[in-house]
Amino acid sequence: MFPFKLTPKRVEYLKELELTSPSEVISYFPRTYNLYHQSVLDKENDQKRVVVKGMVHKKERVVRFGRNHTLFKFTLVYDYETYTVVCFNRDYLTKTISTGDEVIVVGKFDYYKREINMTELITNGIDNLKIRPLYSLPEGITNYEFQLLLKLCFNVTPIEEIVPESLRSKYRLVSRKKAYNDVHFPNDEEELRQALRYLKYEELLVYSLQLQLLKKEQKNAERSIAKKVDHKLLESVISKSSFILTADQEKAVSDIVKDLESNSLMYRMLQGDVGSGKTLVATMGLVANYSAGYQGVLMAPTDILARQHCAFLTSFLKDTPIKVGLLVSALSAKEKREVLEKIANHEYDIIVGTHALIQSGVEYAKLGLAVIDEQHRFGVKQRQLLKEKDENVELLMMSATPIPRSLAITLYGDMDISTIHSFPNQKRQVETRVIEGSTIKSLLKEITERVGNNERVFIVCPLIDEDENRRNVSEVYEGLKKHFQGKANVAFLHGRMGELEKEQTMIDFRDGKTSILVSTTVIEVGIDIRQATMMIIYDAESFGLATIHQLRGRIGRGGQEARCYLLCSNGSPIALKRLNYLVDHDDGFDIARFDLANRGPGDIVGTRQSGIPDLNIADIYSDLKILEVARDDAQRLIEQQDLEENKQIFAYIASKKD
Ligand code: ADP
Ligand code: MG
Repeated sequence: MFPFKLTPKRVEYLKELELTSPSEVISYFPRTYNLYHQSVLDKENDQKRVVVKGMVHKKERVVRFGRNHTLFKFTLVYDYETYTVVCFNRDYLTKTISTGDEVIVVGKFDYYKREINMTELITNGIDNLKIRPLYSLPEGITNYEFQLLLKLCFNVTPIEEIVPESLRSKYRLVSRKKAYNDVHFPNDEEELRQALRYLKYEELLVYSLQLQLLKKEQKNAERSIAKKVDHKLLESVISKSSFILTADQEKAVSDIVKDLESNSLMYRMLQGDVGSGKTLVATMGLVANYSAGYQGVLMAPTDILARQHCAFLTSFLKDTPIKVGLLVSALSAKEKREVLEKIANHEYDIIVGTHALIQSGVEYAKLGLAVIDEQHRFGVKQRQLLKEKDENVELLMMSATPIPRSLAITLYGDMDISTIHSFPNQKRQVETRVIEGSTIKSLLKEITERVGNNERVFIVCPLIDEDENRRNVSEVYEGLKKHFQGKANVAFLHGRMGELEKEQTMIDFRDGKTSILVSTTVIEVGIDIRQATMMIIYDAESFGLATIHQLRGRIGRGGQEARCYLLCSNGSPIALKRLNYLVDHDDGFDIARFDLANRGPGDIVGTRQSGIPDLNIADIYSDLKILEVARDDAQRLIEQQDLEENKQIFAYIASKKD
């Protein structure tokens, strides 16, 4: 709710960004920052990004070429010399700038031609310009427009301190108010650094507190809640199935059973690489919980995954009396009512679903165990809601995000951890190759062959729409569609599509109606497409290694030889070194560790590759030191919850729960 009038345009883009209040707007932080240090136009800077403040001297006529392309040039006087500024597809600039104007030009410099290929032009406020934030905004919305809205939002949002004074002064943190202001309107890099230092600390402190409070609740239950697990049933279920548990799976199941039989509630993480067989372990946990007389749920982040799990459980348990139900938001009102009734009457023993499982209308007869798949896709709040569905809910979280153990411990408090290292099937062979450049020309033949062989090809791009440098889904899709016309069907998939549309796209791809899928990383989550044998990742250097590793786990699942190509358009030695590590390493844990140790200098904000939904600005990898400090501070705060100066932060956390 906004206490001032919004223009229709603002209403529209706020909706797209899912920002519903002034305080959410001011928490929508910039994606990155541009720095404007004046460059020296010498040989050293040939082919590099330069920033030049100069005077517009002579404008040339706009030249049109191709279909809808324009070229506009002007000369710029800088340091008593003239340079040519080249602008593609920005013919409107003829009107915005005039001879004699002082401007800042940003672009790629060609020393020998004395040219700047312009990417950004700044005409306002150029005197003190040192740094400018860049936001991820819908098409047609400028950073400037967003900042105007930000100012209005700041006027109506009181920003009260929440970090206790003693901690703030201990770390010399700026005030909360200043931090929020400076992250959006920094005067220079130092102000930004201080703002980020505060915001990251606050975020990690709050996050650590939430996790530790949850753990405390789980472990300190004083009721007698040990569940009586029927071991005979467990054994018979597994022996009647076609599976033989691997040693790691066996161990994980026994950890889970022990937790169920103990006097405190489970708070366990099940870690294991993509394809290591976590679902089967979770299923055995749910069977054990069933045998003690309780219902269980398995929550997945998407409809597709939930349906896939439901199909697996139903077929796996078909010869047992265990009843499996599905609850996803795409059900019709009537179907939903029936499902809810069966949940409330304990007609379902195991319910598989999405976020729909934690909605307020869902009442469980006797919920004993909640399994959260791909837990890093859910926030602490969802975990909490699931737990609050009944008195004795044990929590099992599953993750394929290969967080090194030491980090996992820092991150999840002293959460119990079970790990699956080995793969159930013989190791899948995904050959990985790094290609310098940004074209797939050399791969078209292989794509054609594979498609002709009824195999599927994934093509991953970092973005949905156009950006200056990186590849986007729409453009790549259009290009491939043209190329494969009459030969293969191409589809696209991205996060802005609706759930149903996404699901249908995946099903068509699985069933072979389409055989090339261009997408963003939304395919990262565990969808099983047995025929997929090839993956091409554009601008691979812009992804975290852990993400790429997850992505390539999507191919070769049927045991065929599979190949993953990593296109690296920025051939910096650091980028190549990182990507090449994936060529001969296949252990997710090693990969995450390597990525952590080999971070490039990176940008100021960091890559936020951990993708933990509770973390908006901090990254567990690059901000590990802050995380460690925050975690210890959280522990101390919980011990001193009643101190007056600590009240504010606990009140803040309580307010975040609902
Ligand atoms: P993930 O850990 O990524 O969730 P899944 O649970 O989807 O992995 O398992 C990957 C594949 O391995 C599935 O097809 C599953 O049926 C199979 N699988 C799991 N455990 C075993 C096992 N013990 N023996 C043989 N196949 C198994
Ligand atoms: Mg899985």
